[in-house]
Order: sequence, then C-alpha cells, then structure tokens
Amino acid sequence: MDPDPIEMANEVKSKVILHWNCRGLVEFPEVMRLHGAHVQEIYLKWNKLTTLPPWINELYNVTNLYMYGNRIEELPKELGRMDQLTVLDLSANKLQVIPACIGNLSNLKSLSLNDNFIERLSVELSQLNNLEILSVSGNQLVALPEWVGSLPKLRELYVDKNQLKELPNRLTIASELTVISACSNRLTYLPLNGFLSAPCIRFDANEYLNYISYPLLQQLISQLYLTFTYERDFLASGCFKTRYDTNVLSTNIKLYIKTKDLFPMNHDTIIKLPRQLLKVHEVHENVTCSLLELALRKVYTERYRHTLNTSGFPENGSVTVLYKPLFKNTKLDFILSTNYTLYNLLMNGPTSICVNSQCQQPIFTEAWIIIDIHDPIIWCIITIALCCSRSCAVAFAHSSAMNNRDWHCVT
Ligand SMILES: [Zn+2]
Repeated sequence: MDPDPIEMANEVKSKVILHWNCRGLVEFPEVMRLHGAHVQEIYLKWNKLTTLPPWINELYNVTNLYMYGNRIEELPKELGRMDQLTVLDLSANKLQVIPACIGNLSNLKSLSLNDNFIERLSVELSQLNNLEILSVSGNQLVALPEWVGSLPKLRELYVDKNQLKELPNRLTIASELTVISACSNRLTYLPLNGFLSAPCIRFDANEYLNYISYPLLQQLISQLYLTFTYERDFLASGCFKTRYDTNVLSTNIKLYIKTKDLFPMNHDTIIKLPRQLLKVHEVHENVTCSLLELALRKVYTERYRHTLNTSGFPENGSVTVLYKPLFKNTKLDFILSTNYTLYNLLMNGPTSICVNSQCQQPIFTEAWIIIDIHDPIIWCIITIALCCSRSCAVAFAHSSAMNNRDWHCVT
C-alpha cells in the first residue's frame, strides 16, 4: 500500500513527533522537506530505507531520529550538520563503517549502532563530548579504542555480542560510567584495577575469562551484596571456566597455574594478563623494578591521587576509588606527549593499585603477583592481586589471611 502524499503532508503539518514506523517506506519522505521544518522527533523504524537524503540537515529542529531496522548501508555527509541532534538510532541496519560525519554531532547524547556490521569505532567519535550512551552491541568489533574511556560524559556503554578480547584500561578512570555491558565477547581478562565510578559491569558468557583481580572482585561483591546475596552465577554465568585459547598469538604474559595439586578435580589453568603488564615477579624474587616503572609511578603519583579502598569487606562498607588530577605541568606534558608509549600508559591509568592498603602505589608495567584460588565448589574463581614490591606482596598475603584467603605465589 503506497502512502498517500496528501495525508502525509497533513500529518507533517499538524505534528512535532512523527510516527512512521512499519510503513514500507523505501525513501525518506520528500514531504518532510516541504513541510517538516518544525518537526522535532522522527520515528521511521522497520521501513526499507537504504540511505538518508542529502537535504536531511534542512530539518533544523529534529533532535531525535530513530532509524532502527532499515537497510541503511551509507549515510550522507550532511547528516553531520544536524548538530541539534541528541538521539540517533541507526541500529539493525547494514552499516559496515561509522561515517566520520557523526563525529560532528556535538550535542549527541545517545548513539545506537547495534546489530550492524561495524568492525571498528572511528576516531571521529572521540569528539562527541556530550555523548552519554554509546550502544554498539551485535557488531564485529575486535577491539575498543582507549579513547572510549575519555568521553567526558559517557554513562552507559553497551558492547555485547562482539569479539572483544579486552576492555580499555582507561574505562577504569572514566568518572561518569554507571553501566558497562560486555556479555558474549571473547574477553580473556577484565581490567585489573577497580573502577573509579563503580559502574554495574555485566560480562556473562565470556567463555575465555578465567580469573578476576582482587580489587575488581571486591568491588563487584560489594555491589552484589547491596542488591542481593552473592553467588557465582550472579557474578557472571559462562565465565571463570578453566578454558583458554591456545591458538591466539599475542605478546601478553601468560601464567600457568597449577591448580591440580590444590584441588584434584580442577585442571591446570593458564591465565592471560593485560597487555600493559610487561613483567611480573614472584613473591620470593627480591629484585627492584625497572627505571621506566619507577618513573611512571613517580610521575603519576605527582599528577594524580588515585587510591582504592578495598579494606572494608562488604559487611563493613563499600569499595571506593578516589581519583583526582592534582595539577597540570605543561613542561612535563610536552615531554610526555613526545613519547607516545609513556604518554599512553599514563593517560590510560594504572594497570592496578598496589593492594597493600598501607601503600597503594600505582602499578603500570611491572608487579609482584599473588594468586588466590577460592574454594572451587562455591566460587571456582582465580583471583590475582598485584603489588608494587616484594615486601607489599608479603604484607598483603599476611594481612588477608584472616579473611580466609590463602594467597599463593606464582612459580
Ligand atoms: Zn606497594
């Protein structure tokens, strides 16, 4: 049934919100150009559009544009001139790339690109300084860029059903995040540090994920404890199996954990550490760390205050992270920005904070590592804790023995 143009024109003239879902439309209605300058919201879900018209930017008042479930493969660059847009929904279309012009939508608060065929997030999106919700589930992303953690207003990040192997470390220092949903990916680890904004993190069905860090576990448990009694399945179903992918070539450090000797029913396990970590030491190793690591710790501590309070067990209180840039040193910024690796390491935040509550030094590339394998019948979770030095590792293992934790060194 072809839409009646006169009826459509009358509808446009009399409404500010247009509901044109499921109309079988193959083109963006031309009638909008003639009569639609006052329209504020357009719903064109479940039609058959393959693109948007180049005159789309003449719709000066449209703030919300819902194009869910069409056949859009490409978009006109004029879309980038709709800088009044706050909500753009292009989910369930046929996009393979995110057009650069979307980076110009400076007032955009919500961007939905779920269920397309997108392989990477284009760097132009990093300009979206007002973006609060980014939803890119059901695509073909293999990595998320670190700048996602620098979107200043980002509150909700949905990246389910992709092929992600890790999450950006910089997300741990994003200040506004309330939700990260990363279910059904190929994550082999989560960030080791606790999250500054203590967001709700969903990571079910990541079958390669087989361990968690102590600060993050404490943070998650305290959240679960606030809402419900905690059980393994509440933490994340389909994770923490002993499975690992031996076919993946990468530079990440892998640790071979002999769980067999401790719990006969378990298999030995390999865990993969975040790629920021270049060197790990066992507790008995009495060495000093590299100058690079010492310099990073020193610079970061002088520029930021970043502490993670994991001392309170759930019953006693929640886990808090404090992170505060102290000052900007222009000379230092210049030196750092000329060294790309150093600059990125600092920008992305520490890999962890030393778990010894008396110390709490930031840790970047090098750490002493201890491992806890909690009662496998209840938890079946390997927890790792990072310390800045041998003495901190010894002190921490000693102090947490009273919480029925039994820390093992890596050999
Ligand atoms: Zn320490």
